[in-house]
Amino acid sequence: MEKERFARVVFDRLAGRYGRSLHTELLHKNMTELFVAVFLSPQCTDKQINNITPELFRKFRTFHDYASADLRTLMRHLNGVNYYKTKARNLKKASKMIEERFGGNVPKTIEELMELPGVGRKVANVILNEGFGINQGIAIDTHCITVVGRLKLSRHKDPKKIEMDMMRIFPEGEWGNVSNLLIALGRDVCTARKKRCEKCVLADICPSSDLLKSGRKSVRIYSKKSG
Ligand code: SF4
Repeated sequence: MEKERFARVVFDRLAGRYGRSLHTELLHKNMTELFVAVFLSPQCTDKQINNITPELFRKFRTFHDYASADLRTLMRHLNGVNYYKTKARNLKKASKMIEERFGGNVPKTIEELMELPGVGRKVANVILNEGFGINQGIAIDTHCITVVGRLKLSRHKDPKKIEMDMMRIFPEGEWGNVSNLLIALGRDVCTARKKRCEKCVLADICPSSDLLKSGRKSVRIYSKKSG
């Protein structure tokens, strides 16, 4: 099986197991809240973010509120989030830019989003996909890195290089789902600390499966042209 076909099988099985309408678990009710929750999410668990956002969102409702906030007050609200001081500074600056350059609206391209202080590719991809249904790239988080490595879908460790590899082998219309499904697998049975291959829907085709005597069988699966 060629790599693209292997990727298709992986996608179909994961979609069958976890569904095709997965969404971020970050709590939000509108675009501003989504932006802020995703903006704060790097190097944090969703739970950490969800712990502080209800109170934050009660106090700060618009980008103007964040842009004009007293920095110490904003930091106090973000306490509990990793790197909260840096994130508070960047959130204030990013909100000011959204107000001044983008008319108070979250930009809809990865390039524009990445101009905002504190916004990297992963954050931009999640905002585009969750907020606008736009697939301009694939959000690669730590779960994706683990799972992609075990499935040998990419030999890279760098998220951007992994993203480029994933964009080549998965159809563009599914990029948002690809990210969410890899994350679901990574959270469910293929965690960085422990893999539970006996519970995994990919156990018979994954090159790293504990259920296969060696990786040879599945490596062969996508090294042959014909499959
Ligand atoms: S078979 Fe095992 S190593 Fe492969 S994706 Fe599933 S849990 Fe991870």
